[in-house]
Amino acid sequence: MTPHVPLLINGQFIQSSSTNLLDVVNPATQEVLAKVPLATSDEIETAISGAQAAFELWKEVPVSERARLMLRYQALLKTHQKEVAEILAADTGKNLEDAMGDVWRGIEVVEHACNIPSLLMGETVENVARGVDTYSVTQPLGVTLGITPFNFPAMIPLWMFPLSIACGNAMILKPSEQVPLATMRLVELFVEAGVPAGLLQVIHGGKDQVQQLIADSRVLTTSFVGSVPVAKDIYLQTTQLMKRAQCFAGAKNHMVVMPDADKDTVMNALVGATVGAAGQRCMAISVIVFVGETRTWVKDLQERLAAVKPGIWNNPESAYGPLISPQAKQRVASLIQTGIDQGANCLLDGRDITISDYPKGNWMGPTLFSNVKTDMDIYTQEIFGPVVCCLEVDNLDEAIQLVNDSPYGNGTSIFTTSGVHARQYQHEIEVGQVGINLPIPVPLPFFSFTGWKGSFMGDLHAYGKQAVRFYTKTKTITASWKRTSASAPNMSISLK
Ligand code: NAD
Repeated sequence: MTPHVPLLINGQFIQSSSTNLLDVVNPATQEVLAKVPLATSDEIETAISGAQAAFELWKEVPVSERARLMLRYQALLKTHQKEVAEILAADTGKNLEDAMGDVWRGIEVVEHACNIPSLLMGETVENVARGVDTYSVTQPLGVTLGITPFNFPAMIPLWMFPLSIACGNAMILKPSEQVPLATMRLVELFVEAGVPAGLLQVIHGGKDQVQQLIADSRVLTTSFVGSVPVAKDIYLQTTQLMKRAQCFAGAKNHMVVMPDADKDTVMNALVGATVGAAGQRCMAISVIVFVGETRTWVKDLQERLAAVKPGIWNNPESAYGPLISPQAKQRVASLIQTGIDQGANCLLDGRDITISDYPKGNWMGPTLFSNVKTDMDIYTQEIFGPVVCCLEVDNLDEAIQLVNDSPYGNGTSIFTTSGVHARQYQHEIEVGQVGINLPIPVPLPFFSFTGWKGSFMGDLHAYGKQAVRFYTKTKTITASWKRTSASAPNMSISLK
């Protein structure tokens, strides 16, 4: 019988009583791996009240004990990295190397959470007035909420619950209903590491479940990663209720290629950054801006991409896997057709690819467009497939203008051997994460993941110091300890 994905409520993995179930499907074979329930309203209520009760106890637990939980979790994750990656590969279709990377980038966030005592340190100033000191402390919030997308089922949940819980909160996690299996294995390992019951609750579902969670007055924050329209909805729903939200959304990431760049370095970077993971990365390079004479390099790229073949996850020859669903494949295919209809030059068309032994997979070969204009749908929309758009400009100023005109601002990169060009780009570009001779500049967790503009809604970003501020509130204490009492009342508000 097809297994049902459990919920985690109050420390127990339980079967939902919901009769509303969705299939979890292997995107390379269409095999149904499991069924995932859309949790009932009562189950959500139990999860919230259990999380609230667990938080009341956890907030008093010494911070070094919280750090030790993260240390145990980090060790378990490292031991089980390959096992989680294999589950993730079947669930998402990612090849093993990419799946291992997905888990690893999550482990790095847990390592960051192990530093929680230092991250929570407040500030102190002695003698703000005579005998008076001011200091701040950071305190946890309560019950927090995390909602995650299909494309990083290990890394992105690990952006959220370890740091929230290390900060002293409880978290309710709503994983992607398309790929819950690897995330559930991460959750099992967290239980094995000794997380107290109720601190991490897992609810499965979609829009209705998310809306109930956001609307509940005991749930105080929303961390969301996913598509632009849903990110906007969730940001508005959460902030209208005067709660904190951080919503990471879609992107269109540009790479600028300067004539002084090394062509081989550029080509090697482009192959992985454009079609790796079938282009299903929010930091994938989907637009190349060729500057000056580099416009002829598109032919080299065509040759390189023509040699890239997708395939099944455990074949070391597979450069990347299938798209996540037949619907995603249909959407990408129809955007490719629109690109052709709107006049872009399709140098490689990946729609007719077949992979022997896996005829039912949602395969899409590398697709390359030149002569792309900024009003075409393939430029304005996030395609989220192995589709690359090439544009041409005459100089760096034009390239910067083009990138800055994009409504998205997740990531960008420049390839150049000129420090002057690199410095100008870094300074003038209106994008939150910039790579210099590095195509996908995802920061390690001691920095934050700082997408800008339409790619992010909120103020405080994921991981780094910003996530610690997102998951805590600051209390500032001003204390007067004097040997003698005041000789007269203080009728002003100045400190004396
Ligand atoms: P999605 O928006 O379809 O789903 C994301 C999550 O929201 C899932 O858990 C889903 O169940 C839930 N959801 C879907 N519709 C909802 C609704 N109407 N109300 C409430 N919840 C809803 O996104 P996806 O297809 O799973 O993920 C791909 C998208 O995520 C891409 O756009 C990609 O760029 C983006 N992404 C962004 C970042 C980033 O850091 N900026 C990182 C990874 C992925």
